[in-house]
Amino acid sequence: MSGGALLADAPPPAATEQPTEAEWAAAVSAITKLPADGRVLLICHVNPDGDALGSMLGFALGLRRMGVRRLQATFPGRPEVPEPFRAMPGLDLLVPATEADPDPDLVICFDVAAVSRLGDLADRLDRAGASLVLDHHASNTRFGGIHLVDPDAAATSVVVEKLLVRLGVPLDQGIAECLYVALATDTGSFRFDMTTPAVHEMAARLLATGIRPGEISRRIFDTRPFGAVRLYGDVLGRTQLEPLEAGGRGLVWTYATLADLARHEQRPYTLEPLIDSVRCTAEADVSCVLKQVAEGEWAVSMRSKGAMDVSRVAVALGGGGHRLAAGFTGYGSAPEVIEAIRAELGRDGVALDRSGADAKAPTAGRQDQE
Ligand code: 5GP
Ligand code: MN
Repeated sequence: MSGGALLADAPPPAATEQPTEAEWAAAVSAITKLPADGRVLLICHVNPDGDALGSMLGFALGLRRMGVRRLQATFPGRPEVPEPFRAMPGLDLLVPATEADPDPDLVICFDVAAVSRLGDLADRLDRAGASLVLDHHASNTRFGGIHLVDPDAAATSVVVEKLLVRLGVPLDQGIAECLYVALATDTGSFRFDMTTPAVHEMAARLLATGIRPGEISRRIFDTRPFGAVRLYGDVLGRTQLEPLEAGGRGLVWTYATLADLARHEQRPYTLEPLIDSVRCTAEADVSCVLKQVAEGEWAVSMRSKGAMDVSRVAVALGGGGHRLAAGFTGYGSAPEVIEAIRAELGRDGVALDRSGADAKAPTAGRQDQE
């Protein structure tokens, strides 16, 4: 269900600029000028990951510290928090989308690149008194009122921390844990290229509050029910390597069906880390996991090691994302969806390396973010 790709999004203007001083000032003022009983609704993207939930809950805890009392945090779709995130601070503020305030004074979106990722909650943008968008996707379509979109930020939580500083809210352990989960998620545990000195400096500030990185990482990344381990065995066992695809750079892919989930009694979110086990295949630049959502419908995750721009493939097929990490909703059988991906991988501009058509594209490393 990563997606809502059925809804058409406006074409991305490709943000390359940092937020302006005027935008920061407008964001601060939207919050500090809230009436005493002002109602704030925080929303993150459908099928939330660590950055979406962590950024939203971290900021919610910050607002609570500022004395904002009428606060709700939510995300569209089934109100199910993936097991790894069920011990996160601030979860008491989370409500199902069906209970979200219909016309809050202020709505704040986190890690949402396009309106389609808000699902049924998109109407809150029109109904709210004001709206604020915190994000780091270069493809952000600027769908709100005030935008703090930093395409250089490794995670949305980087933007959140900066806003908290401007609001004078100090980090406490609860806020820090949420922002750490977000930062660790989107940097692949500080492994991707956009793990800059500034990222480690932010991690240092978060750790200085006394949070336990080993315990948090174990919970978020390294704990899985036995059924999920067996499920991964089945799904990885059918992985296909196609070394000649993607212009000879190699494609590796697999798929997981609803029947696989049912057989091992697992929830769909269990499949989210599966792409990491597939993308380590040395013989392929592009990796792909199809996760069945319904009959003939698949949530597709794609990754590239740097030679191919998978966001182009995703956008062409109705989705979005970053150059090295992107996704879309695919329709038809698994082989049909893979065939559509193979075809898109062959188009001009998808290859990023020197031998490809897009040799002048800026280095792709930083874009390896979620
Ligand atoms: P993941 O594979 O981890 O679900 O997503 C990787 C990246 O692709 C994320 O940046 C996410 O925002 C984007 N993405 C995944 N699925 C979709 C989709 O269906 N629509 C859009 N617009 N973006 C998606
Ligand atoms: Mn993110």
